[in-house]
Amino acid sequence: MQQLSDKLLSWYDENARCLPWRSDPTPYKVWVSEIMLQQTQVETVIPYFQRFMERFPDLASLADAEESEVLQNWEGLGYYSRARNLHKAARLIVNDFNGQIPADIEALKSLPGIGAYTAGAIASIAFNAPEPALDANIRRVTIRLLDLHEPPGSKTDAHLWEFARQLLPSARSGDYSQALMDLGSAVCTPTNPLCQLCPLQSECLAFRRGTQSELPVRKPKAKVPHRLVVAGVITHGNDVLLARRPADGMLGNLWEYPGGSLPEETTDLPGALQVMLEKRFGIYVEVGAQVGAFKHAYTHFRITLHAFACQLSAHEPIILAPGFAWVAIEDLSAYPMGKVARLISRELVS
Ligand code: SF4
Repeated sequence: MQQLSDKLLSWYDENARCLPWRSDPTPYKVWVSEIMLQQTQVETVIPYFQRFMERFPDLASLADAEESEVLQNWEGLGYYSRARNLHKAARLIVNDFNGQIPADIEALKSLPGIGAYTAGAIASIAFNAPEPALDANIRRVTIRLLDLHEPPGSKTDAHLWEFARQLLPSARSGDYSQALMDLGSAVCTPTNPLCQLCPLQSECLAFRRGTQSELPVRKPKAKVPHRLVVAGVITHGNDVLLARRPADGMLGNLWEYPGGSLPEETTDLPGALQVMLEKRFGIYVEVGAQVGAFKHAYTHFRITLHAFACQLSAHEPIILAPGFAWVAIEDLSAYPMGKVARLISRELVS
């Protein structure tokens, strides 16, 4: 085991990736980067991380900010509950931990948005604590080292955590975690791993048995369901009506154009939108031309959203429920939105 970690650390000393959160690392930078890296590629994260650090250079500035501004600076990165949890956790750290990100693994796990993996990564990378981390890259490397053919699940996870603990070196645990991450990203890649360049080749059971390209065993892909969605771009002079999504749930607290899902077989989309706006929100409109059809894939489903220009009906007064706002078209960029709502907004501005 010692030999394996020594080889890995020597390789890391020569091959570590140059990443913005690694220069002058602080617990705050490590924490933000690890949250951004959840389910997101390093290359995608880099510009977001840099912008986020310019706006929120330290924990106090993040805790002081309004949630809408945090969401605005997260816009485009997706999985917005990460941003909301990051913001909530910053405030909790200021109130309950004297403004210091805790080094203790259980204290880290008590914070919103920090699970076992992220806690291990922060503890080891930021504080050099002897804690294993197990992200997707490390998981893949470990599965191949052990030649594990079990399907994904809690039994495999328990096996991986146990092995990760056994492998941890007594010193440089942060570098060790990052070395495994880098090895998984650059050498032990999901397809066609570059075993000839791998410092762990002689320890790798999958390489020895020639099974590396079969691993990790994946769950069969479920068919991703599709949803038909309509939305109204309701204008009044130079203003357009936005609706704020509920705080708890997908795209929580982001703004969007009012509308919703329809049965897949619906053919009269403008008519269905008109009825939906009336019944759901009490908004009476005349539905006009289509602004666009936008396709987007989320984790568990995909949508096609048809947006229509709408005018308020001259005959019915509009009483706006809380969570709606009239916004001048030139101010739309100040309202945090998901990908599709932002695409619609760009159509309006152009
Ligand atoms: S030898 Fe190949 S499969 Fe094994 S850890 Fe290295 S790159 Fe991955």
